[in-house]
Amino acid sequence: LANRLFHPEDTIIDIDGLKIGGGHVAIMAGPCSVESEEQLMTIAHAVKESGAQFLRGGAFKPRTSPYSFQGMGEEGLKLLKKAKEATGMPIVTEVMCQDTFDVVEEYADILQIGARNMQNFPLLKRAGKSQKPILLKRGLSATIEELLMSAEYIMAEGNLNVILCERGIRTFETYTRNTLDISAVPVIKELSHLPIIIDPSHATGKWAMVEPLSKASIAVGADGLIIEVHHQPECALSDGAQSLKPKKFAQLMEAIKKISEI
Ligand code: PEP
Ligand code: MN
Repeated sequence: LANRLFHPEDTIIDIDGLKIGGGHVAIMAGPCSVESEEQLMTIAHAVKESGAQFLRGGAFKPRTSPYSFQGMGEEGLKLLKKAKEATGMPIVTEVMCQDTFDVVEEYADILQIGARNMQNFPLLKRAGKSQKPILLKRGLSATIEELLMSAEYIMAEGNLNVILCERGIRTFETYTRNTLDISAVPVIKELSHLPIIIDPSHATGKWAMVEPLSKASIAVGADGLIIEVHHQPECALSDGAQSLKPKKFAQLMEAIKKISEI
């Protein structure tokens, strides 16, 4: 179902009139984690003003350490809803397990399945029964073929609205958090009709590398970006080191507008 051989035209996903895929560049931005109403509203208004179309923010967080901040849970989802009402931006948020699927599905416009869950097959099957588009992130050490097979799990259950996301893979290089596999974009464009976006924040783990890799992503033909933004990155409860301040995000938006019409 994901194979371009049997579906030559690009899939274009329409969310409240905003399009993802087929040459429409979608920008999703916001904090790694929802931390408070003030934090989320400040960031949401800032990214909207710079031209982001979708608001990202995690309420259920897949943290490497069980002692790290795990997210605000349903309280965080309620704040995302408030931010959507205030800005009009549709919400992208992660769903981590089947137990919390229904509640996340109620609030989200796009359901994110994180890198660590790319091969959680029962979760993929549940996502396939949803009416909401799924943002499927590539696993930390997954091949492109494996990513496409995971998309197939979702589509086989009836949900054809899958957005793929390259977010860096684990290699021998340790300078960056992961290694951005930019070639995943043309490879996926050849193999599949599904939209493919890039997450330069998790790919590098370093805010200073987010802008150059965003430009590269758009130039190589990605259908969009998902970027972490925080007004006080030094105080962020997760992923501060890779979060752009709103002013830097505004500069990034200007830079990528020169490469592609957004
Ligand atoms: C995230 O988007 O905050 C996240 C945890 O991403 P990934 O699953 O790519 O690590
Ligand atoms: Mn993050």
